Amino acid sequence: MSEEKKIPYKIYLSEDEIPKQWYNVRADMKNKPAPLLNPGTHKPMGFEDLRPVFCDELIKQELDDTTPYVDIPQEVQDFYKMYRPAPLVRAYCLEKALGTPAKIYYKFEGNNTSGSHKLNSAIVQAYYAKKQGLKGVTTETGAGQWGTALSMASAYLGIDCKVYMVKVSYEQKPFRREVMRTYGASVTPSPSMETEIGKKINAEHPGTTGSLGCAISEAVEVATKTEGYRYVLGSVLNQVLLHQTVIGLEAKAALDKYGITPDIIIGCAGGGSNLGGLISPFMGEKLRGEKDYRIIAVEPASCPSFTRGKFAYDFCDTGMVCPLAKMYTLGSNFIPSANHAGGLRYHGMSPILSQLYHDGYMEAVTAEQTSVFEAAQRFARVEGILPAPESSHAIKVAIDEALKCKETGEEKTILFGLTGTGYFDMVAYQKYNDGEMTDYIPSDEELQKSFATLPDVGEL
Ligand SMILES: *Cc1c(COP(=O)(O)O)cnc(C)c1O
Repeated sequence: MSEEKKIPYKIYLSEDEIPKQWYNVRADMKNKPAPLLNPGTHKPMGFEDLRPVFCDELIKQELDDTTPYVDIPQEVQDFYKMYRPAPLVRAYCLEKALGTPAKIYYKFEGNNTSGSHKLNSAIVQAYYAKKQGLKGVTTETGAGQWGTALSMASAYLGIDCKVYMVKVSYEQKPFRREVMRTYGASVTPSPSMETEIGKKINAEHPGTTGSLGCAISEAVEVATKTEGYRYVLGSVLNQVLLHQTVIGLEAKAALDKYGITPDIIIGCAGGGSNLGGLISPFMGEKLRGEKDYRIIAVEPASCPSFTRGKFAYDFCDTGMVCPLAKMYTLGSNFIPSANHAGGLRYHGMSPILSQLYHDGYMEAVTAEQTSVFEAAQRFARVEGILPAPESSHAIKVAIDEALKCKETGEEKTILFGLTGTGYFDMVAYQKYNDGEMTDYIPSDEELQKSFATLPDVGEL
C-alpha cells in the first residue's frame, strides 16, 4: 500500500462479511492432534463410539482432520448476525496512556448477554442437537459464561438445557444462575445428589464445593442416561475451536481492509477455544510457510497447563467417563486455587493447541492474578470496557509487549483477543480494589502429586 489509510477506532465489517465457513486449522497441520481414546480400553474412538455422548454432526467435525473449510449452516449465520460482526478496536487511548509506539488492536467478543465468545459455539452445538431431533442438551459451567451462552442458544432454538454448575460458583454468582434460568435452563449445583457420580463424590468429599471436572462427569452421565439428550462442551474440543474461528476470520478480514499485518497475536488460554479461534487463520499461513507471526498464550500462574503441565493422555473429567485426550495437562485431579479467572481453571488444554505448542509454533507465558487485575484496571480506565478477568490475562501481556516497544522504539503491531466483560466478577474486582487479592502458584510437589494420576496408555 502506497499511502497509509487513517485507521478508525473501530474497524467494522458489514453483515455480508461475517464468515460463511469456518477454517479447520488441522487441515494444514503436519502433525495432527492425537485421537481421543476410550477411557476403558485405550483404543482410539471413532464415530460410533462417540455417538452415545455427542451429537452426530459434531462428532464428524471433531474427527475431521482434513477438510480446510466447513460451511456454517444458514440458521447459524442468521443468529450470528444478531451480535456479529464483533468490532476490531484500535486501542488508540491505551497506546497514548502507555506512551508506546506499538499499535494495539483487540477483537472484542463481549457484546452479547453471555458476556463472552462462548455464544459462537453454543449456537452451533444447540443447532446440530435440534437438527438431529434431540430434546435437549446437558453441560457443565464454571464461571457461568458457557452455561449462559448455551441457555441463550437453547432458548432460541426451543430445546431443553440442563446445566451443572460448579457449586462454589452457583453460590457465589447467583445472578449468573438467574440469567440462565431466565433463558429457561435448569441449573443444578455440582456435585449434586441426582447422579451416581455426584453421590459418589459427595460421599468421598463431604462439603466439597465442586470442580469443572466433576460437573462434566455429572453432565455426561445425565446425557447418556436420558433419552433424547446429548452432552455439549464449551471449550477444549476440536469442534469448539473450529466454531470459534469466526473470531480470527473476522479479525483477519478487518485487518486486511487496511493492509495491517500483526507481529504479535495474544490470547488468554483456559481450554484454548478463543485463542485457537483467534489465531487459526494466522496459524494456517504460518503452517503453510506464507507468513510468520509471534503467537502467545497467556495462562494464570495458578493453573499453568502449557508452561508447567505434561503433554500426555489424560482424563477430561474427574469421574473418568469422558474420552482421554492428549494434551498439556496438570492432571485431572488438579484443583487450582480459588483464583478469580473462573474460565481459565481447567486442568487441560485443547489438543490442537497442545500439538502446535509442542511443535514450536506458539509460545506460552503465565500471569499472576494481581498483575492481571492491575492491567484490567488500567485498560478499563482508558478503553471504556470493564474486561473479564480471563480476558485481562491477554491485556496484561499486550501491555507488557507494548511497553517493551516503548523501550526499543519498535512500532510493532499487536493483536489480542478481548474475550468478554467482567460485570459478574465484581467480587473479584472488590478484592483487588480493597488490596486483598493474593497470588497463588502451585508448588512442584503439588503438581507431581497430580501428575502421578495420569493414566498409563502404553505405547500407541
Ligand atoms: C471461557 C472463557 C475464557 C476461556 O476459555 P477458552 O476456551 O480458553 O477460550 C476466556 N474468556 C472468557 C470471557 C470466557 O468466558
